[in-house]
Amino acid sequence: MRFKKPLKITSRISSVTNGFVQAIIPNAAPSRSEEAEVLAKLGMSSEAQECIFCGQKATDWDHLLPLVKQKRPTGYINSAKNRVPACGPCNHSKSGAEWQNWMTGKAKGAPRQKGVTDIDERIEKIANFAKWADQKPIKFNGIIGAELWDKYWNLHAEIEEKMRAAQQCADAIQRSIKESGALSSPLLS
Ligand SMILES: [Zn+2]
Repeated sequence: MRFKKPLKITSRISSVTNGFVQAIIPNAAPSRSEEAEVLAKLGMSSEAQECIFCGQKATDWDHLLPLVKQKRPTGYINSAKNRVPACGPCNHSKSGAEWQNWMTGKAKGAPRQKGVTDIDERIEKIANFAKWADQKPIKFNGIIGAELWDKYWNLHAEIEEKMRAAQQCADAIQRSIKESGALSSPLLS
């Protein structure tokens, strides 16, 4: 039997933070007709979709303007006009980056790195699309007020602080068990 390193409570902080972020992003699930409008604008159809970044077969919808940045919602949402067809590798490589910087940048799997030849045409096409889509970020604290916004993120900070304190407690428990000599008992060896 193999023993893994004990899981840390603090290693769960990022998923808690992600929960706080995702829980307040409005869901604007696009309809089929909205999707068709976006595809038509990009010169594609639901039968023939290619990754707008590199031209390979599209398997995903990528949020052109990222929904999350530096662990906070950007205000951009999952609206039809903020979703573009992409291949899995591009979607993954782009992640939360700004699309144009990413396309021409050095990230692993980025279009320039992959040797996409018509990159300038693609950038122009995407820029035209973005202009048409005209997405404006939701200004969360402007809409809901600073009080509720601050309350929410203060709750997050409190939970994070408690998780760190709990981890210290867990570390002390582990240390205490180790120091007790209980682990060197022949029954456990
Ligand atoms: Zn791609």
